[in-house]
Amino acid sequence: MIKLGRKNDIKSDTYIGNLKLIIVHLLNALKTDDKQINRSIEEYKSALKKAHDKESLEDLKYKIADFVIKYDESLSNSKKQQDKLVLSNINMLLRLAKEVDSSKSWQNSLEKIKELLNKKIDLKSLEMTKDILFSMGTSVKNAKETVYKDILDMLFSLMDISADGESANQYKKDFQGIKQNIAFNPNKIESIDIRKKLKALINLKETIEDEYIDSLNNKLKKALRALVYSINTFSTSHTKYSDVFKGHIEEIDNLTANMDVDVASKRLIAISIKIKNSILDMQRELDQYNQKMKEASNIIQELQEKVKKAKESLIIDPLTNIYNRRGLVHFMKLEIGRAIRYKTSFSIIMSDIDHFSSVNNRYGHLVGDRVLQTFCKTIKSAVRDVDILARYGGEEFILILPNTGIDSAFEVSEKLRTAVSNLKFQYRGENFQITSSFGVAQFRETDTIKSLIKRADDALYRAKSTRNKTVREE
Ligand code: GH3
Ligand code: MG
Ligand code: MG
Repeated sequence: MIKLGRKNDIKSDTYIGNLKLIIVHLLNALKTDDKQINRSIEEYKSALKKAHDKESLEDLKYKIADFVIKYDESLSNSKKQQDKLVLSNINMLLRLAKEVDSSKSWQNSLEKIKELLNKKIDLKSLEMTKDILFSMGTSVKNAKETVYKDILDMLFSLMDISADGESANQYKKDFQGIKQNIAFNPNKIESIDIRKKLKALINLKETIEDEYIDSLNNKLKKALRALVYSINTFSTSHTKYSDVFKGHIEEIDNLTANMDVDVASKRLIAISIKIKNSILDMQRELDQYNQKMKEASNIIQELQEKVKKAKESLIIDPLTNIYNRRGLVHFMKLEIGRAIRYKTSFSIIMSDIDHFSSVNNRYGHLVGDRVLQTFCKTIKSAVRDVDILARYGGEEFILILPNTGIDSAFEVSEKLRTAVSNLKFQYRGENFQITSSFGVAQFRETDTIKSLIKRADDALYRAKSTRNKTVREE
């Protein structure tokens, strides 16, 4: 599929042109002896000629619908059946105008219809047209369903949440509900209601994750407090034992010199047994404390690990293992702060893989995912450790280059572009390669995150005119 630029799509123009041509044909077939009707038909034809996009065709759809009602009243019996077919065909065509599909099979279908109607407009050709239009409608439904399914897969994987707790569990339940609701019927994503629910859930997800980290931090604090408490009690029990031993020593001191040796030795044995027991007691208590300390420090370590992971997962993109949008914003803020404080500057490179959809379409989403991973690894290994790579969107990335002016950033970008275009991929014995386009911008004192990204995005947009190119900001 070849597209020129992001907005004007030549294929879709010819497609709409074809639809218009067929509708004109069909409108002509409606002509009667009634002058007024013929005049309306001419008006619609000229309005149709002026309609160049889906929106104006959509407008026309309503106008023609009005006409159809009026026209229906004045239909003569003989023409009735045929005219009804003509009208329903026009309606189907106008409905299809919303669903631009530039695939070969659609082009062929339209050519077939043109051919049919060029020969003769009669019941048979109209019936056949209707069948073809119907199957085009079905194919659009199937194609849309596949796209929706892909989108949903991606969305669902992003919406999974790793937090525990009451609100997280409620979220998981709601999310599961929506998932089940649309998984079997991806078209439901067209419903505003469902989209609203998804949006609310996505917002909720951020709050829950923030809360989760807070609660982990709280647990960690509590565990630390408990540890300090047990250390305190241990030191007091330590003094308790020193008192016990002091008692034993006093007992020994109290053995008088003139005491009978036998008696004295018996008493000493008794005291030493007491001392031994005290030591054993203390040992036991010590062991218990040791055990408790060990458990406490395990819990603390676990919690610390969890806090670290949760914090990371918030700013790391799970597929590519680089920073996500949150991470990007975090580091952009840091970088802007630094640039202003030290009166230095930095640059960013924004990139978008060219024709990435065709990688997905040809080799499947899993291969697409692998390409994204390799792309990121390639970029990361080609830049400095201090440079920060983040996933800005699906296959759009932003690289922050601290302390770097636009000229060096441009050079880096060209280096990356070459590295990407040299990558070699293989799928079931078939070799393929990719290219990527790049836009470079340097931070200015008055910039916000948004304005800086906008300049890089504009540059990237210009790079897309030829693709596989680096363009610097204007
Ligand atoms: P262009 O040259 O104009 O950039 O063409 P393109 O096909 O790359 O167009 P676009 O940027 O609009 O398409 C991006 C595609 O990337 C669409 C989407 O399905 C796909 N995509 C986004 N995220 C992912 C992902 O995580 N995995 C996979 N496999 N595909 C993704
Ligand atoms: Mg792209
Ligand atoms: Mg893109």
